Amino acid sequence: MDTPLTCRNYIDGKWLTAVAGATLESRNPANKREVIATFPRSAATDVDAAVVAARQAYQSWRLVPAPARAEYIFKVGELLSKYKEELAQLICREMGKPLAEARGDVQEGIDCAFYSAAEGRRLFGQTTPSEMPNKFAMTVRMPIGVCALITPWNFPVAIPCWKAMPALVCGNTVILKPAEDTPACATKLVEIFAEAGLPPGVINLVHGVGEEVGKALVAHPDVDLVSFTGSSETGAEVGSICGRTHKRVCLEMGGKNAQIVMEDADLELALDGALWGAFGTAGQRCTATSRLILHRDIKEKFTTMLKERTSKLRLGTGSDPNTEVGPIINERQLQRVSQYLDIARAEGAKVLIGGEIATEGELKNGYFFQPTILDEVTPQMRVAQEEIFGPVVALIEVNSFEEAISILNNTKYGLSSSIYTRDINRAFTAMRDIEAGITYINGPTIGAEVHLPFGGVKQTGNGHREAGTTALDIFTEWKTVYVDFSGSLQRAQIDNRE
Ligand code: NAP
Repeated sequence: MDTPLTCRNYIDGKWLTAVAGATLESRNPANKREVIATFPRSAATDVDAAVVAARQAYQSWRLVPAPARAEYIFKVGELLSKYKEELAQLICREMGKPLAEARGDVQEGIDCAFYSAAEGRRLFGQTTPSEMPNKFAMTVRMPIGVCALITPWNFPVAIPCWKAMPALVCGNTVILKPAEDTPACATKLVEIFAEAGLPPGVINLVHGVGEEVGKALVAHPDVDLVSFTGSSETGAEVGSICGRTHKRVCLEMGGKNAQIVMEDADLELALDGALWGAFGTAGQRCTATSRLILHRDIKEKFTTMLKERTSKLRLGTGSDPNTEVGPIINERQLQRVSQYLDIARAEGAKVLIGGEIATEGELKNGYFFQPTILDEVTPQMRVAQEEIFGPVVALIEVNSFEEAISILNNTKYGLSSSIYTRDINRAFTAMRDIEAGITYINGPTIGAEVHLPFGGVKQTGNGHREAGTTALDIFTEWKTVYVDFSGSLQRAQIDNRE
């Protein structure tokens, strides 16, 4: 085991312990005896210092031309490429996902860097004719100010990048509060931003407990915007504080994503998609496939195929190249998944395979849950409605395409969705009728690309979209500018009318 890392807060360009000196530790979810890092248990005083630094830095950062701001983010992208393997190994140890997936997590950050940086030379507004003579009209994007970025553990590099990179290119300063489970990943990431030469205070990092520093950041009167990714329960709390304090808030929350398999689908392809969607990252993705909606004509055959392949999935530590399914993030989440299995059994679902905490051999040292298929699930069961966030997929049988769409839509969430069919008419009808922020045709529910909008409808989000050019709408305010060069007072709607 390596010596634990010592993580610190990063405030005003300096690496600092928490003022009160308290610390916490993160552990390897595949081997709970291994401490990965110690990190500050920060409090409101540390938050205050970070907000003061971010506010001070904002005054000059907002005036740096956007293409010059973007050059720092290009540099971050280059450094992320340089440290990709080191960072991927760290993600693998601290968060648990298999190494190939951890490399993907970093690659998403790299992609986001180059995509966001390119926006530094665009940030387009509009020019439009005025209704008055000798008058010019246009819109420009303005930064918002100090942004609090609150992130979960499941994509410990990609999600902070999704938020910080467009925010900084747009001229804001940021304070990152990462998840308690992945402080070392966040620290390495912020070290990279620092190495890229960002001026002090432009990016700040405050570690600690969500209920303490997260809450203090959200409530802080000098924070202008909160960008939050996490559970719907926490999101509701964050949203209500921001509502009361009139802060802009972007919420990316839970999902209960479904993949439909129609009777005309390529079943082998649908099977590959289902396995990756349901069990990739041990089901701990907001876009994970947690429901499989199967047409009755292929249900039996597809279920047999799925069970067979699931039985062969290899559980293990992320660093083992043979591992296909890694650990659950922590004990609390492991118990939560286990409790959902009790709920499923009590509701009458049938456990086809899996269903238990995995304890064979080395697995007992970590938080592993067997890849699980629940059969005979009906749409109203809690396991068909609530986010489990583990390697558990519920099978629901349907009689028709219309019923499949209706059941897919029958949840409070609306993040990702998928349909496997060879029928072009059904594919287009699904694109139109599915209530979700993302729909895949003949692809699994997971696999977002950074240049397309990402987010969900209903209780998954609050109307914003991260990634793509839509991220700019989160991190900028529109300003409308009129330039009157007529030399006289021109009253719109009055002087140009009889
Ligand atoms: P979480 O418990 O809601 O935590 C998310 C972040 O919020 C963490 O940094 C957490 O800090 C912090 N936090 C907790 N309580 C807070 C409070 N009262 N005020 C301010 N911040 C607070 O979620 P999670 O378990 O880390 O992540 C899993 C969830 O994220 C799932 O529901 C998943 O669907 C969702 N997710 C959504 C997306 C999306 O884009 N839609 C992407 C990824 C994940 P601590 O770590 O210290 O508790």
